[in-house]
Amino acid sequence: MDHMGIHYNIWIMLLSFGLSILASYSALNLISQVPSSTASPRTRRLWLLLGACVLEIGIWAMHYAGILASGLQFDGRSNTGMAILSMVIGTAFCYFGLSISLGKRMTFLRWTGSGILLGAGISAMYYAGRSWIKLDAQTDYNLPGQSISVMIAIIASSMSIMLIGRFKDSPGFNRWKLYSALLLGTAITSVHYMSTGAGGVAHGSWLGPGPSLVQSDVILLTGVSLVTLFMFGITGGAVFLDRHLLERMAYHDPLTGLPNRHGLERYFKDRFLRGRPGAVFFIDLDRFKSINDTLGHDIGDMLLQEVASRLLQSVSSRGKVFRLGGDEFLIAEPGFSPDEAAEEAKRILQEIKKSFRIQDNDLYVTASVGISMAPAHGTDRSSLMKAADTALYSSKDSGKNKFSIFDSEMNRHQLRRMSLEKDLRKALAQSEFMVVYQPKWDSLMNVTVGLEALLRWRHPEHGIISPAEFIPIAEETGLIVPITYWMLHEVCSQNLLWHKEGVASVAVSINMSARMFETEDLYEVVVDALSRSGLDPQYLELEITESIAMNNMEETVAQLSKLRRLGVRVSLDDFGTGFSSLGNLDEIPVNTLKIDQVFIKKSKMHSKKAIISNIIAIASNLDMEVVAEGVETPEQIELLQSLGCRVMQGYYYGRPMPVHELGQWFTENSAAV
Ligand code: C2E
Ligand code: MG
Ligand code: MG
Repeated sequence: MDHMGIHYNIWIMLLSFGLSILASYSALNLISQVPSSTASPRTRRLWLLLGACVLEIGIWAMHYAGILASGLQFDGRSNTGMAILSMVIGTAFCYFGLSISLGKRMTFLRWTGSGILLGAGISAMYYAGRSWIKLDAQTDYNLPGQSISVMIAIIASSMSIMLIGRFKDSPGFNRWKLYSALLLGTAITSVHYMSTGAGGVAHGSWLGPGPSLVQSDVILLTGVSLVTLFMFGITGGAVFLDRHLLERMAYHDPLTGLPNRHGLERYFKDRFLRGRPGAVFFIDLDRFKSINDTLGHDIGDMLLQEVASRLLQSVSSRGKVFRLGGDEFLIAEPGFSPDEAAEEAKRILQEIKKSFRIQDNDLYVTASVGISMAPAHGTDRSSLMKAADTALYSSKDSGKNKFSIFDSEMNRHQLRRMSLEKDLRKALAQSEFMVVYQPKWDSLMNVTVGLEALLRWRHPEHGIISPAEFIPIAEETGLIVPITYWMLHEVCSQNLLWHKEGVASVAVSINMSARMFETEDLYEVVVDALSRSGLDPQYLELEITESIAMNNMEETVAQLSKLRRLGVRVSLDDFGTGFSSLGNLDEIPVNTLKIDQVFIKKSKMHSKKAIISNIIAIASNLDMEVVAEGVETPEQIELLQSLGCRVMQGYYYGRPMPVHELGQWFTENSAAV
C-alpha cells in the first residue's frame, strides 16, 4: 500500500509539474499572439486577459492535483465563494504581472515588479486555496520555509519574464518561450511543494510515502486533468484559428489562393531582398474588363484563376506570385538580373497568350508587364512597385502585350501624365478644347455622308494634344462627362449652322465614353443639346464601343432605344476588336457598324480580308450600314468596294479638320447638300 502511495505521489507530482509548464506555455503563447506593432490596444488586452486566465486555471489545477497527491482530505463544505474570489485575485495579479512584462522598454524595476506580481499571484492562489478547501490536516506554519518558497516563486517568475522580450512578437513556436514556461512552471510547482514540505502537513508531505489515493480522488484528479487539458486545447485551437485561418483570410486572395496586398507587404517586410538584387514584375491583363463585361463575372473569375495558375508555372522556384486585386498581379523574384527578368517576362507573355478554355469558350487574352530592378530602381517595396507600375504604363501605352523594364524616361512620361491631369481640370473652363471633323465618304456616289467629331486639346504650353493621350485621363478622372456635354452642345450648334448656311446637311457623330452610360441623364443631356440648338435628331449620331454595349446590356439597350426613338442615330465604333458575342449584336439598337482600322491596315492579309468580308455580311443581314475606318490607299478602297463596303473614313478622303478648313473642303469636294 505504501509502495502504491509513493507511486501515485510521484505520478501526480510529475503530472502537476507538467500541467504548470503546459499552462505557462499556453499563457505565454497567448500573450505573444499579437505583435505590439500591429495589434490594437483592445486586442492586446483581450489576449492578455485570456493568457492570465489560462495561467490561473493551470495554477489552480496544479495545486488541486498537488493537494490530492499529499493525501489530504477536503472538507466537504468547501467555500465556493472564496474559491472564485481567490481565482479572480490570482488572475488579476497574473494579468498585471504579464502586462508589465510586455512593455516596450524593460528596466530592472519592471522585471522585478512583474516578477513580484506573478510570484504573489501564484502564492496567493495557493494559500487562499489551502484555506478555502479547509484541509482537515494539521498544518504547521513554518514561516522561513514558506518565505523561501515565495522568494523562489518571485525569482523564477522574474527570470521567466526576463525572457519574454525574446519572443513577445513571435506567435509561433519559440524555444525561449519554452524556457520561460519552464521557469514559470517551476515557480508554480515550487510554491506548492516547497510550502507543503516546509509547512509540514501532518499527514505526510510529498517526500514521504503519503496515504494512497482513494478511488474517488483518482477519478476527480483525472477529471481535473482532463478539464484542464481541454481548456488548453480550446485556447490552442483559438490560437490556431487566429494564426492560420484568420491569417489566411487576411493575407490571401480567396479567388486565386495567392497572397494579396497584405501578404505582399508582409513578404517585403520579412523576406524579400534584404539588400540583395531582385526583380519586381507588375502584370495586368489587357482588356480584361471587356471579358468581364461581355461574358460575365463568373467566366472572368475563372479566367483569373487560370491566369494565376499559369503565372505560378512561369516563375522560378524562388519567385512568389501575388494578386493585387482585379486583373493585377505582382511577381517578386529575388536574385534576378535584368536579363533573367526579361526572359521570365517573355515566358509569362507567352503563357498568357495561349488560349484559355473556360466553360466552352475559347478565350484569348494578352498581358502587359512592367518590371523594376533592385537595387537600381529602389530597395523598398514602395519605390520598386512605383517603378514597376510606371513601366507597366509604358507597356500599355506602347500597344499592350509587351513587357518593359523601368527607365528614368518613363518617369518623365508619368510626370507629364500627372501634369496633364492637373491641367485637364482647368481646360474646359479656359476654353482649350476644340472640335475637328473627319468626313465619312460614300465612295460610289462620291459624296460626304457624314462627319465624325473628334476632340482636340490646345494646351497653352504643349500645343495640340491628341485624344489618345488625354481621353484616358479624362475617363479615369470622370472629366469626360462634362467634356462630352460641352461637345454635344458645340457639335449640335455647329451642325445646325452648316445646315443654315447650306454647307452640308449630314449627321455628325460624337464618340461616347462608357462613363456617359453610367450617368442616368444621358437622354436628358442629348435632348437638351438638340433643343437648345434646334437640330433635328437625325443629324446627331452617337458612336459607342462594343464594351459599352455589352456592359450592363439591359440598361444600355434601354438608354439607346430611347435615343433611337427620338431619331438619334447610333453606330458601333472599332467593331471587331471587342469581345462581343455576336449572338447579342441583333439586340443592340445600332444603325451602323464601323470596321476598326486595324483590319483595313492589314487588309492584304487573307485572314483580315475574311474578317472584313464577314463584318460586311453580318451588317447587311442585320440591316445595318457599314463604315470602314482608316482608309488610306486606293488598294484598300478597291478591296472594300469589291467586298461590298462603300462608305469610308480615312486620311485618303480627308483628315480631321477644324471648322474653318472644312468649309473650304466641302466646296472642293461637292458635298451632299
Ligand atoms: P475613333 O473614334 O476610332 O476615331 C478615329 C481615329 O482614327 C481618329 O483619331 C482619327 O483621326 C483616326 N484616323 C482617321 N482616319 C485615319 C487614317 O486613315 N489613318 C490613321 N492612322 N488614323 C486615322 P483621333 O482623333 O486621334 O482619335 C482617337 C480616338 O480618341 C478616337 O478613336 C476616339 O476613340 C477617341 N476620341 C476622340 N475624340 C473623342 C471624344 O470627343 N470623346 C471620346 N469619348 N473619345 C474621343
Ligand atoms: Mg469614333
Ligand atoms: Mg474607331
